[in-house]
Amino acid sequence: MYCRECGNGVKAHAEICPNCGVRPLNSTKFCQSCAAPTNANQELCVKCGAGLKNTGNRVVSVGEDRPSGLLNVTVCCFPIVGIILYFIWKNEKPKSAKAACTWAIVGTSIGVLLYIIAFVIGMIGESMYYY
Ligand SMILES: [Zn+2]
Ligand SMILES: [Zn+2]
Repeated sequence: MYCRECGNGVKAHAEICPNCGVRPLNSTKFCQSCAAPTNANQELCVKCGAGLKNTGNRVVSVGEDRPSGLLNVTVCCFPIVGIILYFIWKNEKPKSAKAACTWAIVGTSIGVLLYIIAFVIGMIGESMYYY
């Protein structure tokens, strides 16, 4: 295959290109199967038709954008936290923000449901008391 950074031929599964020192698939400048020049948004090579690979994370990420289980549980118990986190994260961590928002809704629904159940049980209890 070819280095996607410099177009130099490299061994298959090579970790680092010996020519430019970049991970061969961590770029978008050349096709990894025929070394034809490609641009950043291209998904298929127009010369050989190969699907262009890109393992690199070239976007400068702001922390980790991975919704965590612990966070989901916390937000589920305290939906207000989820709403706050959603507004803090919605631009920087869209995935986490969405998860926080979803779990806030779930938490709220469960809260409302428990409230209704408690209310109904209360009503039944009260009516039994009066009889
Ligand atoms: Zn290279
Ligand atoms: Zn190609």
